Amino acid sequence: MKLYVEADARPEVLSGEIIAVLGYGSQGRAHALNLRDSGYEVVIGLRPGGATTAKAENDGFAVLPPAEAVKGAGLIAILTPDMVQAKLYADIEPNLKENATLLFAHGFNIHYNLVEPRKDLDVVLIAPKGPGDLVRRQYEAGRGVPCLVAVAQDATGNAHARALAYADGIGGTRGGVLDTTFGEETETDLFGEQTVLCGGLSELIVRGFGTLVEAGYQPEVAYFECMHEVKLIVDLLHEGGLAKMHEFVSETAKYGDLTQGARVVDDHTSERMKEVLKDIQDGTFAKNWVSEYEAGLPEYNRLMREDLESQIETVGKTLRGRMAWLQD
Ligand code: NAD
Ligand code: MG
Repeated sequence: MKLYVEADARPEVLSGEIIAVLGYGSQGRAHALNLRDSGYEVVIGLRPGGATTAKAENDGFAVLPPAEAVKGAGLIAILTPDMVQAKLYADIEPNLKENATLLFAHGFNIHYNLVEPRKDLDVVLIAPKGPGDLVRRQYEAGRGVPCLVAVAQDATGNAHARALAYADGIGGTRGGVLDTTFGEETETDLFGEQTVLCGGLSELIVRGFGTLVEAGYQPEVAYFECMHEVKLIVDLLHEGGLAKMHEFVSETAKYGDLTQGARVVDDHTSERMKEVLKDIQDGTFAKNWVSEYEAGLPEYNRLMREDLESQIETVGKTLRGRMAWLQD
């Protein structure tokens, strides 16, 4: 495994070039501010009248429609939501400079061939392993969030070096940059968010809560136990893995964990995880997500409503309102 650090970066491969950042949300704002502080000239591309235009202007950036912003840029970072990137690429392609670098923060559109870039372009990935506000805060503190780097198309022979220089500009080489491929980044990212991080964890919480409530316990007590306290455990896992979690919970909690956990999450769960992974690998998930998006998100909106109207949400809102420190 190769880990690139600051000494491996060659910022000179990007020096003097304009960087166009398309999108000014979580990642876009953090990248743009960090790149500017690293000495790059940055121009922001956004739809006229879009929600984040004022934000970018207040931060002192020139904001242009995407097709204008990319003119003259040596590197274009595509940091809009994944589902609008194919249309966005079609809009900007005629104005892309020959041999420019097209950079993504997630491999979805390239990996599933939703964007098929011109052959003269370098196509690279720099995926920070954290949300944008962390990318910004760590940079300001003189540190950096680790990133993944990949190359899908190397037209100039310099694609990897240019991607690494960009990672260096956002602070990524301070945290370390790891080689991957568009396929690996995309498939592992989707798998993680679906089975463990967003999908798996929230389902586990809701089912734990529901089991206690159905058995007659007070919803408020069930909420504290199954939702609120997740953070305590996740912080321990994040800081020191299973070892630190075991170090800080009670002996009884440890015994319960070791003997009962695998009764709930078991081989059946692994089988289901493999099915989810297969849908990701063979493109089924991507195909479904694109057609859901194009149909106007009917199923997505229905499921979201169901989630937000569930009992755990109502109970949680009231309880969180009394915990002032959660509001900061
Ligand atoms: P976001 O939703 O926070 O921001 C999207 C930005 O794009 C906004 O400024 C929005 O106004 C703008 N936008 C929307 N439609 C547009 C269009 N048609 N043309 C131009 N601009 C448009 O997005 P994000 O979470 O920063 O995600 C950006 C990319 O970064 C995605 O590829 C995502 O997968 C990836 N990524 C995100 C995270 C994360 O933690 N959020 C982490 C790693 C990678
Ligand atoms: Mg993800």
